[in-house]
Amino acid sequence: MLVGIAKLAAESERLESKRQVEYFELPAHSLLNRTKPGMPFAWAINPYRGCEFACRYCYARYTHEFMGFENSSEFEDKIYAKAHTAELLRRDLRKVAPSESIAIGTATDPYQPAERRFGKTRAILEVFAEGKGRTLSITTKSDLIVRDLPLLIELKRSNVLHVNVTVTTLDIDLARLLEPRAPRPDLRLAAVRQLAQAGVSVGVFPNPILPLITDSEQSLDRVAAAAREAGASYFGGGVVFLMPSAQKVFFPFLETNFPHLLKRYKERFEKSAYLRGPYQETIRHRVRRIRERHGLASSPAPYQPEQWAGGEQLELFQLS
Ligand code: SF4
Repeated sequence: MLVGIAKLAAESERLESKRQVEYFELPAHSLLNRTKPGMPFAWAINPYRGCEFACRYCYARYTHEFMGFENSSEFEDKIYAKAHTAELLRRDLRKVAPSESIAIGTATDPYQPAERRFGKTRAILEVFAEGKGRTLSITTKSDLIVRDLPLLIELKRSNVLHVNVTVTTLDIDLARLLEPRAPRPDLRLAAVRQLAQAGVSVGVFPNPILPLITDSEQSLDRVAAAAREAGASYFGGGVVFLMPSAQKVFFPFLETNFPHLLKRYKERFEKSAYLRGPYQETIRHRVRRIRERHGLASSPAPYQPEQWAGGEQLELFQLS
């Protein structure tokens, strides 16, 4: 018998069907998820489950397994848009202290193609723009975010806002292989430029760093240089982790495209989803060195929004 999220998924009404991609509306009880201690943000929002960008390394594939899907392609072909996002958010925000930061797009991309149709992320940002005094971040690899530039500008006047754009490589062919349906790296960097020019705090992350594929000093340096040139102010990067749900896609991908790497990846990741030991340290040093070379910070600089609310914020949320 199906229970929990698998039951909700089975009951979801089909919104639309396009090529092989199907869109559903997922009944949701809440929008905000409390994160585990030690994370850089207290709450996470993911307006969509599944992601059409279909990155070969995507760690979020396991979330579709919770919904009862075992075929890995269903993660990118069955996209669930959460229902009633604005109403849920207004209600959920009553339990969030102003000091607690909220991250949008921690699992799946909030500006994936479904957003163009269903506008869930935009509806969420509109709710945040009604209030003041929040600390928000958005993570995406989509240039669709510039559609919402006027809203982001409005939002950052009374809330702290940081946008993290993921650019794994500047090599367009490699990006197409790794992230078949995501916007090209140059389009993402153009979005970085537009955000930065509008005064939005923006950083670039070459995540996930893939051993022997995107991890060279030269490859990471090119991304950092382009990020700096586009106006990003911070830069960071972490090594890929591959849970069994991601291995199911990534290992066959390696077999086809990087057969010489398959054995080495299997030897390391079949034991544990996370790489341990000196490699992690090497990459940490490499990213730090590159960051310093280009005058980029490791994290967003604190700033005071023009209309920061201090202690008396959030009347709007509490009244709603
Ligand atoms: S954009 Fe992010 S969530 Fe979407 S497939 Fe790629 S890694 Fe996964």
